[in-house]
Amino acid sequence: MAIPRFTTVCLSNRVIARDIYEFRLQKPEGFSFKAGQFVLFDVPLVENPLDIQTRAFSIASAPLEQDLLFVAKMKEGGRASRWIAEVIQEGTPVTFQGPFGAFVLHPENAKDYAMICTSTGIAPFRSQLVESLGTGDCRRMDLLLGVRSQEDLFWVEELQKLSQQYESFSLHIALSGADADWKGHRGRVQAVTHAAIPDIVARQIYVCGNPSMTLEMKKLCVEQWGIDRKELHVEGYI
Ligand SMILES: Cc1cc2nc3c(=O)[nH]c(=O)nc-3n(C[C@H](O)[C@H](O)[C@H](O)COP(=O)(O)OP(=O)(O)OC[C@H]3O[C@@H](n4cnc5c(N)ncnc54)[C@H](O)[C@@H]3O)c2cc1C
Repeated sequence: MAIPRFTTVCLSNRVIARDIYEFRLQKPEGFSFKAGQFVLFDVPLVENPLDIQTRAFSIASAPLEQDLLFVAKMKEGGRASRWIAEVIQEGTPVTFQGPFGAFVLHPENAKDYAMICTSTGIAPFRSQLVESLGTGDCRRMDLLLGVRSQEDLFWVEELQKLSQQYESFSLHIALSGADADWKGHRGRVQAVTHAAIPDIVARQIYVCGNPSMTLEMKKLCVEQWGIDRKELHVEGYI
């Protein structure tokens, strides 16, 4: 089946943390998706807008929300990174194809959720949490987010509000290069998963972020903790 293509406009674009941009698009008429899916943007070369390649970005807004929300980590000299930092602003037309992907939650499985991510790997989880919590799923949901330092954190206030509003949801933050005053977890997510989510082996586990982390988490889960592969869902931001 042909995947539909949509052209819409950018509503806003701003820096929200070190090397992190958050942009919103108007949701095009007829576009629908499942929480956790991604789209492929047509990304023009800044110097030559006719030279187009696609790049994948997870949808961070929930299906029930009005706009489409994305978060992007800048890669030095990267095509999409330059397009987001230098070109797109309120009113810029944006074309994408989608939705794609099978990184979706499995509510038919009664096990609690463990969500583990680094940096912008949080995008599909924001979508999934807003949807699941907002539609009354009251199983335990733990989100473990890893970044280098405080300057790399974003969306924490919103997530903390969700954790206050919903007893079933907890946010855990791990900093690999924390300042002396940091009170949360220290180290990479791989190293702190057990401390943050002690019953990790009893969960269905979702992992998203840079490929070296997702590969290591997969190995840890399967080889060290003996978790069945069918309980493990991974999206690597290759
Ligand atoms: C399913 C999926 C969902 C994703 N969702 C997100 C998301 O929500 N947020 C997010 O931030 N990312 C996401 N990603 C990653 C994203 O798609 C891009 O890979 C990332 O943003 C970098 O793209 P870019 O065009 O800026 O860099 P690219 O142009 O792809 O380049 C990457 C790096 O390689 C270097 N490079 C490129 N070409 C060469 C060359 N010829 N020689 C040497 N070096 C070179 C660039 O300078 C840059 O540093 C996702 C990926 C996948 C697969």
